Amino acid sequence: MPELPANFLAEITSSAQIQWQTTAKVTNPVALLILPDQLNLSKFSISLLESSPLLIWIESFAYASFIPHHRQKLTYMLSAQRHFVVECASQGYEVLNIFSQGTYGAAIAQLLGDNPHLQLTYMQPSEWDTRQDLEQVAQTFSSRMQVIPNSFFLADLAQFKGKIAKGYRLETFYRQLRKSTGWLMAGDHPIGGKWNYDQQNRKKLPKGIPIPEIKFYPPDQITQEVIDLVAQLFPDHFGELDNFGYAVTRAQALALATQFVQERLSKFGDYEDAIAQGQPFLFHSVLSLYLNNGLLLPEELCQQAIAAYDQGNAPLNSVEGFVRQILGWREYIRVYYEAMIPHVRQSNHFNFQQNLPQLYWHGQTQLACLASTLGEVIKYGYTHHIQRLMILSNFSNLTFTDPRQLNHWFWLAFVDAYEWVELPNVLGMATFADGGVLASKPYVSGGNYIHKMSDHCRHCYYDVQQKTGEKACPFNYLYWNFVDRFRQDFNENGRVSLMVGMYDKKSPEEKSAIQASATSFLENLPR
Ligand code: SF4
Repeated sequence: MPELPANFLAEITSSAQIQWQTTAKVTNPVALLILPDQLNLSKFSISLLESSPLLIWIESFAYASFIPHHRQKLTYMLSAQRHFVVECASQGYEVLNIFSQGTYGAAIAQLLGDNPHLQLTYMQPSEWDTRQDLEQVAQTFSSRMQVIPNSFFLADLAQFKGKIAKGYRLETFYRQLRKSTGWLMAGDHPIGGKWNYDQQNRKKLPKGIPIPEIKFYPPDQITQEVIDLVAQLFPDHFGELDNFGYAVTRAQALALATQFVQERLSKFGDYEDAIAQGQPFLFHSVLSLYLNNGLLLPEELCQQAIAAYDQGNAPLNSVEGFVRQILGWREYIRVYYEAMIPHVRQSNHFNFQQNLPQLYWHGQTQLACLASTLGEVIKYGYTHHIQRLMILSNFSNLTFTDPRQLNHWFWLAFVDAYEWVELPNVLGMATFADGGVLASKPYVSGGNYIHKMSDHCRHCYYDVQQKTGEKACPFNYLYWNFVDRFRQDFNENGRVSLMVGMYDKKSPEEKSAIQASATSFLENLPR
């Protein structure tokens, strides 16, 4: 690890009386470790906080560098954490921010070793590796470390974890949570008479529709120091560092949530699946990064959206779609992660062995949809969910890319990505790597659906109308190539088996042109 700058954080160290060091002699007999995705004291019990614990955060070089996380992701995580440290200090808590070249566990082991009187409580980490890391330390310090359940999620793990298996789908889970929370319910029935309004939520963006801008926050002193630090320590990590503008405090994140509900929620549902060149955010909330580190809480976001519906400020298709993403999908995949980790990490149903195409790292390609989407990932560490699925995951599937490599890429490339959230989406939902526990089929489609939902094809070197040949849209022939090669998996699925039938009806000339175009494209794709 490079040397830290000598005057590192001098300003806020003196103003907020925070101890910034690699370990410390502490006098407080009790301590509470707060991980970088647990930045909300309301999720810790009052009795715990009333015991006046020393609040501890760790900046772990090992965590920041075990994969080349997007540099805006590291900036966001670190700046939000430091702002939270300062906030807690200003509320009168005794705080300690530890630098560690090693893992969170290594830092805690050193701290407990240096302070034999210290009792430490920590909340169950959401990510498997951190959990294992701390559990290993707890074996040495078993009488001095106490773990409490993770309270940042809505669904009861004990109730749902055992249900995760083939055939247990989101819809069943979601309806149960709608009933137990009473959200958007009239007694036992969903408000409006339907559980979901997906059919209304697939509109293409009309030309000229005004898209409200999302507020970006210029870096303050703390964020600028973090940006400089990340630039110095991680010059080779993924992504651009310029133009960082995400919220880094709860107050800022709450303001963004209010802005979303007032300005974009009403159209969120209609254009949930739409894609537009040069418009990375559209009507999406872009709040997942704040939800996933505790600056915002799932219950308050759902309740804010439901209040907008109750007051007549947002239609049901938008509000239900938003609530389903948080109360439904987000909770469901977290339960899936808990049920499937760690063995799911190695899953690779189709046994794809190809490396991730190089274009995922630099975004340079003649496929306009990929170039645009990857440009947004590189610039913001963000694209909305349908681009992640329809473009990034689809292309990975169609090019027979090892889903575990795609999984790692998603983990490092997005500002909102922690393993518990990205792994189920990639290995379960998008790539079918788990063999069908989470989804009924891999996400694959030809160019037509991308054309229907976006304006990318107008800007593309390739022609979405052409099916084979040098100028044909690669998604077209790669799709049929995939259907033919994995016809068994398609045949087993009633919903998509007709695609095998459609392929089989093609003429021998058409089939051989598809195979020739696919083979040529795949052989020439830099990996
Ligand atoms: Fe993407 Fe094909 Fe459209 Fe080009 S023509 S933007 S590759 S879908």
